[in-house]
Amino acid sequence: KLLNSRDTELVERARRVVPNGMWGHMATRAIAPGYPQFFSRSDGCRVWDADGNEYIDFMCAWGPNVLGYRHPEVDAAALARIDAGDVGNGPTESMVELAELLVDTLDHADWTLFQKNGTDATTACVTIARAATERRKILVARGAYHGAVPWCSPSLLGVTAEDRAHIIVFDYNDAASLDAAVDAAGDDLAGVLLTAFQHDVGKDQHLPQAAFLAHARKICDRTGAALILDDVRAGFRLDVRGSWARYGVKPDLAAYSKAIANGWPLAAVAGSERFREGAGKVFVTGSFWYGSAAMAAAVKTVRILRDSDALAHTETMGERFRDGLSAISARHGFKLRQTGPAQMPMVLFDGDEELKIANAFCLAALRRGIYLHPKHNMFLCAAHTPEDIDRALEAADGAFGDIVSAGILAA
Ligand code: PMP
Repeated sequence: KLLNSRDTELVERARRVVPNGMWGHMATRAIAPGYPQFFSRSDGCRVWDADGNEYIDFMCAWGPNVLGYRHPEVDAAALARIDAGDVGNGPTESMVELAELLVDTLDHADWTLFQKNGTDATTACVTIARAATERRKILVARGAYHGAVPWCSPSLLGVTAEDRAHIIVFDYNDAASLDAAVDAAGDDLAGVLLTAFQHDVGKDQHLPQAAFLAHARKICDRTGAALILDDVRAGFRLDVRGSWARYGVKPDLAAYSKAIANGWPLAAVAGSERFREGAGKVFVTGSFWYGSAAMAAAVKTVRILRDSDALAHTETMGERFRDGLSAISARHGFKLRQTGPAQMPMVLFDGDEELKIANAFCLAALRRGIYLHPKHNMFLCAAHTPEDIDRALEAADGAFGDIVSAGILAA
């Protein structure tokens, strides 16, 4: 049983001074009832909530943690910059170093620009595509998440029809549907925006079909539109060269954030020669976009990812978790659908449209010390060890036993 008195107290205090006590994707009412809202500490692949309960973490701060929380080398690099002054009237040498490193490491990049959040980067990609092509239409996949500003927010509250006037949707991996959207854009097509793979909340994940990516690339070559990769969630977790390197398809513009600096706040747009001039013309900026601690952290993170087996290890740990969970769930009579890359697993239960089983299971797992998510893709990191995975599987085994005893059975 969890102690949660401190969390309850903080939630009550927050409710008085923050609408609903919390906003955005980290509001626990968007996960499942019973999840702690506040945390006090993180280390490696573990997090501690405000009451001091310890969890083996499978959310990794929703993506930023790729090498392990409080990675000594990354944090030392960032803290050295903080000691020397993080912000000033411009960036430090770290910016040039990082831009050179990214142009060297990403298979598609000739230049980069830096921001803070993923939304900054996706929005800058859209702005650059429109400025460079002098056209307006941006094609996006139905249900994909690209950020939380009016042109792309999943909620339409506070969003006007005009904000979306030049957004046209198509279905991911569906060439005919993309063609129809291209036709609808006519001679006003500025860009085609795609996530690294299909990772929409609450749905099975799908890797991109190589032929679909090649088709999108061909459309952009023919029309002069920008092929834009939103690699915010998967970038620097699947492949340090960019998530489409293995498909041999190069985007014109790509947005990165989350894992790029192992938790230090940074985002990047990386682009091809053809869009350099457009990127040089637009006005994109922010007060905190030039801080050097996050850039120094990114230099260290990307070097470690490039020069070590961290990502291969993370994938192996993901596979160990996936295989174990599949065997354990079957033993308890549940049928899981585990989709997408093993290091970014989505776990859904068959016949569980209302997430009754998923919510009960995740809450039971939480009580046994593992932090899972019932409907969003999860994340593994390089700090997960085989022992951590096995302990988590043991907890999952117990959690399945708990929900079966409570009368929750497979659909
Ligand atoms: N694109 C994708 C694919 C994302 O997953 C996210 C964040 N979940 C964003 C964009 C927006 O990033 P941020 O929340 O840092 O603005």
